[in-house]
Amino acid sequence: MNIALIAHDSKKELMVQFCIAYCGVLSRHNLCATGTTGKLVAEATGLNIQRYLSGSQGGDQQIGARISCNEIDILFFFRDPLNAKAHEPNEMTLLRLSDVHNIPVATNIATGEALIHALERGDLDWREIIRN
Ligand code: PGA
Repeated sequence: MNIALIAHDSKKELMVQFCIAYCGVLSRHNLCATGTTGKLVAEATGLNIQRYLSGSQGGDQQIGARISCNEIDILFFFRDPLNAKAHEPNEMTLLRLSDVHNIPVATNIATGEALIHALERGDLDWREIIRN
């Protein structure tokens, strides 16, 4: 599966802890991330992560382009709901494209836990079937 990781600044430590906790599962998949999120997770876990630009520089749009091409199967996007971002319109586009292409998305840790367990059990294998 192709999995994308994005975390707003206040959620980056949460994303790092999440990826440490589920390193075993994540290591069996292809990972990509926005710049800083990818750097922090890779440093903490040793996971191999394809890194795009920072979200503010267009990294979320790079991931959005892959979603448009149906190349992303799961998006973990841990958002900060309290602080607006200058590039929020791009993020809304990313979430819209995820809905267009039926991508399972976790925007917080609670859904993140549910999705990663679903991934572990093979509940999301249908994604690969419709992609191929
Ligand atoms: P970053 O981008 O991982 O490079 O910080 C994500 C974001 O938009 O906050």
